[in-house]
Amino acid sequence: GLTDIRTLLLSRIRDVADYPEPGVTFKDITPLLADPAAFSALTDALASIAERTGATKIVGLEARGFILGAPVAVRAGLGFIPVRKAGKLPGATLGQAYDLEYGSAEIEVHAEDLAADDRVLIVDDVLATGGTAEASIQLIRRAGAEVAGLAVLMELDFLGGRARLEPALAGAPLEAL
Ligand code: AMP
Repeated sequence: GLTDIRTLLLSRIRDVADYPEPGVTFKDITPLLADPAAFSALTDALASIAERTGATKIVGLEARGFILGAPVAVRAGLGFIPVRKAGKLPGATLGQAYDLEYGSAEIEVHAEDLAADDRVLIVDDVLATGGTAEASIQLIRRAGAEVAGLAVLMELDFLGGRARLEPALAGAPLEAL
C-alpha cells in the first residue's frame, strides 16, 4: 500500500547536513534513483497522480524534476515539457523571474509546447519555499495552459511552501508523497 511505498521512498533519501551551505539539510535522491524498485514505485505513484488530475502534459523543473518527470510522462502516456533556467532553451521562450533569498532567478519554457487546452502536472523532487513552483505555475498560465496540480516527492513543510502556493494553485492539488 501507500504506507509501504512511503517507507521505501523515505529509506532511499539521504540527508546531507550543511549542504550546499551551513544550516541546510540537503535531501539527496540519488540513492532512490539507483534503486530500480524505489524509482519504479515513485514513477507509478506520480503517474497515478497524473491520471487522477486529468493531466495532459508533465512539466519537469530543472534539474531533478527532469529525472523524475520524464519517466512519469512515459508511463502515463503524456508529453514531457522541461522548464529550464534562463538561457538554456534554444527556441522562442516565455520567461518568469522570481525572487531568491539573495537576488533573483528566471525560468523559461518553450511557449509552443503548451497548448491552451493543456492541463499540466508540475513535477519536482523537493518543495522548499515554493518560489520555483510558484514561478512555474505563473509561467504555465501565461502560456495559456491550465495547472492540473503540483506533485513532489518531498515537502519541507517547515518552510511554508504549501501556504505560499495556495493562491497560485487556486484549488489545484499539491501532492507530496
Ligand atoms: P524552492 O523554490 O525554495 O521551493 O526550492 C525548490 C528547488 O530547490 C527544488 O527544485 C529543489 O530541488 C531544490 N531544493 C530546495 N531545498 C532543497 C533541499 N533541502 N534538498 C534538496 N533540494 C532542495
